[in-house]
Amino acid sequence: MSLHYGHCLLSIPGPSTIPERVLSAMHRPSPNIYAGELHDITATLFPDLKTVARTSGEAAIYIGNGHGAWEGALANCLSKGDKVLVLGTGRFAIGWGELGAQLGLDVELMDFGDLTDADPAKVEERLRSDHQHEIKALLTVQTDTASSVQNDIPALRKALDDSQHPALFMVDCIASLGCEPHEMDRWGVDVMVAACQKGLMTPAGIAFVFFNEKAAQARKNADLVTSYWDWQPRANPEIYYQQFCGTAPTHHIYGLRAALDMLVHEEGIEAAWKRHETFARAYWAAIEAWGRGGAFRANIENPERRSRAVTTVRTGKGEGTRLRDWCERIAGVTLGIPLGLGTPGSEEWDAAFRIGHMGHLNVPMVMGTLGAMDAGLKALDIPHGSGALEAATAVIAVHGQS
Ligand SMILES: *Cc1c(COP(=O)(O)O)cnc(C)c1O
Repeated sequence: MSLHYGHCLLSIPGPSTIPERVLSAMHRPSPNIYAGELHDITATLFPDLKTVARTSGEAAIYIGNGHGAWEGALANCLSKGDKVLVLGTGRFAIGWGELGAQLGLDVELMDFGDLTDADPAKVEERLRSDHQHEIKALLTVQTDTASSVQNDIPALRKALDDSQHPALFMVDCIASLGCEPHEMDRWGVDVMVAACQKGLMTPAGIAFVFFNEKAAQARKNADLVTSYWDWQPRANPEIYYQQFCGTAPTHHIYGLRAALDMLVHEEGIEAAWKRHETFARAYWAAIEAWGRGGAFRANIENPERRSRAVTTVRTGKGEGTRLRDWCERIAGVTLGIPLGLGTPGSEEWDAAFRIGHMGHLNVPMVMGTLGAMDAGLKALDIPHGSGALEAATAVIAVHGQS
């Protein structure tokens, strides 16, 4: 029997749930792209995006997904053969490095594995050993959506500063922007990349590259950049057409405008961070309760270094895939597949899954996902501790008092 004939929940780490308001804003005929409202609305996006990123620097918008932002960021700052240091903490940081290698960069990977964040002391040691300053950029993710680790961005900045290393600091916030605290300027991030389909609640299709003055200087010598990827006319167009190097992403502009109204002007970015913190902790409390009578545990042991937007869960043999399948087929809740943990169908892969808790999310959505999982554990006879739902509501109640 299937019980999923209702509003289905997509609890995967991107794309995230799209608010009805965003969808409605997009439901319209194509606008004039040469003058009028579309131009005015586009201009209003930039200050709000910078509010979300906490930067007074520049922003470029691309029609693209996260991979597009990765390429745009590298192309504007680097030249063929340049050395970049990539901090591997899961599939996503490594993927950014692989893309860099395809562009002709000399990529050095420091792999910290799937279970912890990048160790700032080891990074500092490596930077100090680079006497000739061959490393032109340090690439890291804030939240790696595969392992669900959250790197300590200020500590990594400090590693650069303490070693007096001039490399550009480039950070992927695709999963974390709008969900987890990020202070681009205060933390000394030179280039930050993001996309619209996670914390920004808009259908996949727009990517962002934020950059400061130091990165803008690097742009002058970068030989990888092409007119399509050039962030300069996108950030400071002389005519509207240059802003997207062609036709604007018309409907996404309306959708993103609605999403930023909600995030920046109604909820407020700091309140959104707190909301994500609460829901992440509710999920962790439930996982901990289940784990007291079974094999479930959060992949990242240290709560401080866990993402607030996604949680990777490790389970007993086969349990991850079985539960994920049950939740989708029977209960109408889609959980995320594991990424970078074994290959599909392998033992490691079948003993993990991911929960996305990013973007447009409230109490019934979190408790609905947790309730479906709890029922699935019982239906499938997967050993688990009791009290998970109560543990989650207790967290929500405490955070809901303020
Ligand atoms: C989702 C994600 C990406 C990839 O984004 P796409 O839109 O799928 O290209 C890259 N990095 C992180 C941290 C992500 O969460």
